[in-house]
Amino acid sequence: MYSTINVYPPSISFPTPYPCIMWTGIKIIIEDLLNFFFPNLCAACSEHLVKGEDGICLGCMVTMPVTSFEKDMNNPVIKQFWGKVPISAATAYCHFSKGGRIQRMIHQLKYEGRSDVGVKLGQLCGYRLLKSPQYASHDFVIPIPLHPHKLRFRGYNQAASFGKGLAEVMGIQQLADALQRKRNTVSQTSKHRLERAANVANVFEAMDENILKGKKILLVDDVITTGSTLIAAAEALLKIPGVQVSIVTIAFARL
Ligand SMILES: [Zn+2]
Repeated sequence: MYSTINVYPPSISFPTPYPCIMWTGIKIIIEDLLNFFFPNLCAACSEHLVKGEDGICLGCMVTMPVTSFEKDMNNPVIKQFWGKVPISAATAYCHFSKGGRIQRMIHQLKYEGRSDVGVKLGQLCGYRLLKSPQYASHDFVIPIPLHPHKLRFRGYNQAASFGKGLAEVMGIQQLADALQRKRNTVSQTSKHRLERAANVANVFEAMDENILKGKKILLVDDVITTGSTLIAAAEALLKIPGVQVSIVTIAFARL
C-alpha cells in the first residue's frame, strides 16, 4: 500500500545553503590560486586587475587617450583619404604615442596572444560610435585581412578582434572573410609614404560582391599612419556598385 501523505526528501523541499557556500568558497580559493600563478594583469599598465576588471584596469579605461575624432568630420584621419578615395567618415579611437599605453596594448594584441584586448578596445570604441550618427547605421564591419600565412602563425586577425568588439556593441554583423589579401606584403613600419602605397597597391580583393552590393561598410584596422593599407582595401570595396565605406581604427599615429 502506498501512503496518501506526500513526504518530500528534505534536500529537495528545504535545500540547505551549505553546499552553495562551500562551492563559492572553493571557487574563490581556485581563482586566487590561478591569479597567484597566472596573474591577471592590465594590458595597458601591467598592474594586477581586481575582480570585475576585464583586460584593462578601470584607471586606464577612464584615462584612455581618446581622440573624439568621431565628432569632427574634418579630423586628421579623414584627411588622410581626401583626394585619394571617397570615404564617408573616418576616425580612430585613441592617439598612438611611442612607449604609451596604447602602444603597449597593441603590442599585446599583435604579439602576445591577447586577442581579448582587441575585443575590449572594440567594445569601448563602439560605445562612443553609437552616439555618432555618421557611424551608427552601417550594415557590416569588415576587418583588414591578414595574409593566410600570417593568420596561421598568429592564430587570429587583430583587426577582426577589434571588429568583433565593435560589431557586438553596435549590433552590426562582422564579415571577417569579406576581403582577402592576394599576396603577402612586407611590414609597412619602415617604409615612407610612397613606398607604403606601392607595397599594398591592388593587394585586396572582395570575396563575394553580391553580399556587399549597396551596403554601408565599416572598414576596421589596428593603427592608421599614412592610410595606405586602408586606401587599398577601400578601393577594392568601392569597385562594388552602391558600396559606401567608413573607417575606424584603434589608434592614429602621426608620422
Ligand atoms: Zn591599467
